[in-house]
Amino acid sequence: MALQLALFDQSELAPSLRVVGRAEVSRKSDAPMVRPASGFLKAFDFALNPYHGCAFGCTYCYAKHFVAEDEKKIGWGTWVSVKGALGPLEKLSGATVYIGSATDPYQPLEATEQITRRVLETLLQLRTPPRVVIQTRSPLVLRDADLLSRFPFRRVNLSITTDSESVRREFESSCPSIFRRMEAAERLVELGIPVGICVAPMLPIQEPVRFASTLRGLRAQRYGLSWFHRDRGTFAAGTDREVMERLREIGWTELEFQRASRILRVELPLMAKGNVFDPE
Ligand code: SF4
Repeated sequence: MALQLALFDQSELAPSLRVVGRAEVSRKSDAPMVRPASGFLKAFDFALNPYHGCAFGCTYCYAKHFVAEDEKKIGWGTWVSVKGALGPLEKLSGATVYIGSATDPYQPLEATEQITRRVLETLLQLRTPPRVVIQTRSPLVLRDADLLSRFPFRRVNLSITTDSESVRREFESSCPSIFRRMEAAERLVELGIPVGICVAPMLPIQEPVRFASTLRGLRAQRYGLSWFHRDRGTFAAGTDREVMERLREIGWTELEFQRASRILRVELPLMAKGNVFDPE
């Protein structure tokens, strides 16, 4: 019999709206969570997104451009839909799965909905649990360390995009602080769960040498960095022009990014090795 995931009771399937933080929440019981992976995730078999939309609402997020309705693009960060369709699951057995390509699977709503947790529980029931990489910027991922440690291959990729809280507050105002993300990375490593650090996209860095040293101290398995997603390149969508203009205004150009990248790669050689987005 096909394994299926019961995400919420039948009685709850009718769209029910409520608000968590600044995000209006709805349920989409038939929205598929799993799609074939592509673009910068081509090394994976599947991308899995438990939610549609993301209450973290980073200003530079490219994922909002996957949304058809203009109103929802403009209001990115103020709405989230809980997805309900994970199956058929057999195709995920032994596959490589990237969780969180277009949403943060540990955004605030997950604390109560626990959809990501139920997804992990279900994947662990497969004959060969998939190799999973989870992308997040939330310490809430620590809650699921018990499940993650049971996967034969797992890595938590934490996005740590800058060394400056004031920069973080301008571009990622609803996200956990940089310090809390670093604490989460340290704790995961202590628990034996490999961590990847993604300085992606790299926001303005104040002290690249010190930043590299701090990141090195997290003892991550992989490190990676990138500039912002451009429109219609490897990606179907890019960062908003207004955000790129604001970055230029504060002196954060691609040239500055390259200068900081060189320093990070010298000070933190692991940054230049391997690909943080590979499932190995
Ligand atoms: S956490 Fe990720 S998916 Fe969510 S808004 Fe920020 S960049 Fe987009």
